[in-house]
Amino acid sequence: LDMKTILDDAAIRRALTRIAHEIIERNKGVSEVVLVGIRTRGIYLAKRLAERIQTIEEQTVPVGELDITLYRDDLTEKIEQPEVRDSDLPVSIHGKTVVLVDDVLFTGRTVRAAMDALIDQGRPKMIQLAVLVDRGHRELPIRPDYVGKNVPTSHSEVVTVTVEEIDPQDRVMIRK
Ligand code: 5GP
Ligand code: MG
Repeated sequence: LDMKTILDDAAIRRALTRIAHEIIERNKGVSEVVLVGIRTRGIYLAKRLAERIQTIEEQTVPVGELDITLYRDDLTEKIEQPEVRDSDLPVSIHGKTVVLVDDVLFTGRTVRAAMDALIDQGRPKMIQLAVLVDRGHRELPIRPDYVGKNVPTSHSEVVTVTVEEIDPQDRVMIRK
């Protein structure tokens, strides 16, 4: 197994600090902003962004969660579809700017499912996307607004993201 580190803990820390500043700047403050993390690791990243924004702006940003899981149905056979299984939004997102947060952006299908679910739940004013890693290979016209690092990958490579909340350490690695 050939594993290469792309971001170490310091690099992840700096990327999240930068993205926190970018979110504040782009939205001229955070009074209308709600962060929504996508299942497991995106949720921890969203919480860290909220902590940084709190420190910088002295304002609390609500953090919600979406649990999106791949399923394979009978009709699509080989194609796995992302499905929103559960959502936990602490405030109404109606009229708000929702920043979706995920660890890795790949085809864009997960984000598309997330956007559908958010729009169903009450019409945000705007949806933005923050990802720690953009590994390319989009299959939908989706692009992130905030990126920790662009990592060109081949289709067969896998990006491993670990976060200290649940893993041994903060790390982004690529497996050839
Ligand atoms: P997409 O729906 O854009 O194809 O894939 C994005 C979702 O699948 C994200 O929730 C992300 O966590 C996961 N994902 C896709 N590719 C990778 C990868 O190479 N590494 C990791 N860790 N997650 C991935
Ligand atoms: Mg994920």
